[in-house]
Amino acid sequence: MGGIGAPEKLIVKGKRLDGRAFDELRPIQIKAGVVKNADGSAIIVQGETKIIAAVYGPREVFPKHFQEADRAHLNCVYDMAAFSTPERARPGPSRRSVEISKVIRDALAPAVFLEKYPKTAIDVYIEVTNANAGTRVAAICAASVALADAGIEMRDLVTAVASGKADGQLLLDLFELEDNYGEADMPLAIMPQTGEITLLQMDGEVSQDEAAKLIEMSMQACQKIYELQKKALREKYLAEGAATGEASE
Ligand code: ADP
Repeated sequence: MGGIGAPEKLIVKGKRLDGRAFDELRPIQIKAGVVKNADGSAIIVQGETKIIAAVYGPREVFPKHFQEADRAHLNCVYDMAAFSTPERARPGPSRRSVEISKVIRDALAPAVFLEKYPKTAIDVYIEVTNANAGTRVAAICAASVALADAGIEMRDLVTAVASGKADGQLLLDLFELEDNYGEADMPLAIMPQTGEITLLQMDGEVSQDEAAKLIEMSMQACQKIYELQKKALREKYLAEGAATGEASE
């Protein structure tokens, strides 16, 4: 995977290949309200990973026998654009994208008051425009901002990050080389106000003690990302308020 071969080492002189400290996030930017035609949307740029999430709904479900009487149906579609990887990604759903769509849905659902929107569907479309590891977790961050931007009632945002292990070292927010050639990758999503975990996956091998340390490191990082998510929503609504204010003057 990727255009570069396996590096000899992932940690050189106590530093990661991209110069970050072991517990340092990549630079993250989040912006809400970036897709004009959606009810809510957000973009996240995390290092070289770039993802757009767009939310449509709640909309009435037809035919009626697909409706859930007491709740909304949350539908998530994760897609990697053909141009998102060094070698053209095959367009259309794959086993991986179907599985990731499901885990993203399951990570977001506990935060949404689905019971407030019976018989409807809420659609979340996620497009990875550049993939450099951590796409499912960045997608969750963007999608939860997009859901809030759509005005859908939520218990909390969902915040997510991956941590893992490479060259024997526990690392926060793996980039592609660390993800592809390291020993382990552990995506985690939480509702930051309560710390409730809504996604925990593990690819590779770590000890029980290391797993606990990774969870702790990711949880702390999620609080930082949470602030960026809230800031993105505040900025969107301040900008909207300013525009409305101007219009009424
Ligand atoms: P995540 O993106 O959530 O970390 P994976 O662990 O499956 O999910 O993928 C790790 C990274 O490997 C991706 O973010 C992407 O950079 C790369 N990758 C995944 N699938 C492909 C693919 N089909 N072609 C090229 N690179 C890919």
